[in-house]
Amino acid sequence: MTEHDLTLIAGDSSAPADEPLELHHLIDGTWIDSADGETFERHSPATGQLVSRAARGGTAETEAAIKAARQAFDDRRWSDVPGAERAKLLNRVADLIDANRARIARLETLESGKPISQAEAEIEGAANIWRYAATLAWNIRGQSQNALGPEMMGMVLKVPVGVVSIITPWNFPFLIVSQKLPFALAAGCTAVIKPSEMTSSTTVLLGHLLVEAGLPAGVANIVLGYGDPVGALMTTHPDVDMVSFTGSTVVGKAIVASTAGTLKKVSLELGGKNPQVICADADLDEAADAIVFGVYFNAGECCNSGSRIIVHEDVAEALNEKIVALSRKVPFGDPLHPDTKVGAIISQAHQDKIDRYVREAADAGATVLLGGAALAVDGLSGTFYQPTVVSGVKETMPIATEEVFGPVLSVLTFRTLDEAIDLANNASYGLSAGIWSENVHTCLEFVKRAEAGTVWTNTWMDGYPELPFGGVKESGLGRELGSGGIEEFLELKTVQMRIGKSRQKWV
Ligand code: NDP
Repeated sequence: MTEHDLTLIAGDSSAPADEPLELHHLIDGTWIDSADGETFERHSPATGQLVSRAARGGTAETEAAIKAARQAFDDRRWSDVPGAERAKLLNRVADLIDANRARIARLETLESGKPISQAEAEIEGAANIWRYAATLAWNIRGQSQNALGPEMMGMVLKVPVGVVSIITPWNFPFLIVSQKLPFALAAGCTAVIKPSEMTSSTTVLLGHLLVEAGLPAGVANIVLGYGDPVGALMTTHPDVDMVSFTGSTVVGKAIVASTAGTLKKVSLELGGKNPQVICADADLDEAADAIVFGVYFNAGECCNSGSRIIVHEDVAEALNEKIVALSRKVPFGDPLHPDTKVGAIISQAHQDKIDRYVREAADAGATVLLGGAALAVDGLSGTFYQPTVVSGVKETMPIATEEVFGPVLSVLTFRTLDEAIDLANNASYGLSAGIWSENVHTCLEFVKRAEAGTVWTNTWMDGYPELPFGGVKESGLGRELGSGGIEEFLELKTVQMRIGKSRQKWV
């Protein structure tokens, strides 16, 4: 295979670079530099251009942000605001996100390397999540118990958890913070947020919008910097009540361990090695298109990537041909071009990791049907990887069990549905799973038996704010989105009330 067989979109090397952005921490309503003046830079993974220079947070900034969030929670400046007013503010933020969509999307593309059309859709989707969370702020309802006998009445209140540390990764920076923060705010919590150091800019833009919308100082604080020390301190500090994290399972487990000392509530959205079973009676054209979308969307840097397909032996060859043909048509290249569907890989180190998985699989006997190497794109000096299809994968190979997080599809085969379901479930992860079959009974059986937080039948990777999202097994703890999205940030408080002097004396 040569790169000429692919659909490539060249970069425009004569286009002027954007002015780099200077980023600061948001602590107690004020934008500040780090006390020691340290900074770090982010360069575009597609072009190498400098996109942003950020204050590099340390222990002092993290402690100041946690102190501000604690104070803002303890003096009830936000939790005492009625739900209807909190909802109004969240809706204002949503409108501001819409009004600033082009700017946010461009920065997201420059820092992450994702295509601009996708970034714009994500920012639009994020605004809608803020609107959805606003509806929940109106609807925080506990319970009453009125059958406890004539002398007692019981109530269960739902109260905000407190100070929440929100730690986000680089693959969907604006979308993921929008899956957490509006629900925390709707519940009445305060927050300290740390974006990935590779994609800080759009979280900072969100901070500006929160200030413009009128969020009281200290309610949402942003510290820029690295997992060590910023993220780590956000998970151990005694003034933090909860950690909401999206990222790798390795770091998720480390967070569970580090929060144990102070027994914080933890919500984790981690990795996936998501299987799609393609039965012999499936519509192969529909399935092939969805498989190609599922594996190349966001260059495969996606917890929901459909990176592991399990296809019936009788149709495996036909499906592989369709997937390879479609893969050649997907426009890879310049993230800023409106027609591009797959942009750059986040970093050279990550690209090397992707490549290692493919090489190891090939060395172990798998067949690389397409791709399997870095991709050169005219006019762009950054990191790109070829659309890659690897067949003959065995279930024990790392490419079949670990998150590759790149545009790499592994193809396994099966003969019976039981065998397919065993293969699908034979993973430490349990985020998403899918099945393609024209037989509704086959689909329903898979739905019942698949070990996953989300199951798709005859589709892949649709998503709605109304539907919960999260994983089982090592894919996470808790759920985001859906009407339960706010529950993660609420605690139950039981109230028992005696009527009259009816209590039996103990002594
Ligand atoms: P990480 O899980 O390491 O990072 C996610 C976030 O956690 C970042 O903000 C990071 O900070 C922060 N962090 C890192 N270490 C700690 C810690 N000890 N305590 C608290 N916070 C911490 O993901 P990576 O970016 O390193 O990606 C590595 C792999 O993880 C990828 O190759 C992919 O397989 C997987 N991944 C999965 C994601 C998903 O959505 N499921 C998302 C991203 C990655 P910083 O990086 O700024 O230092």
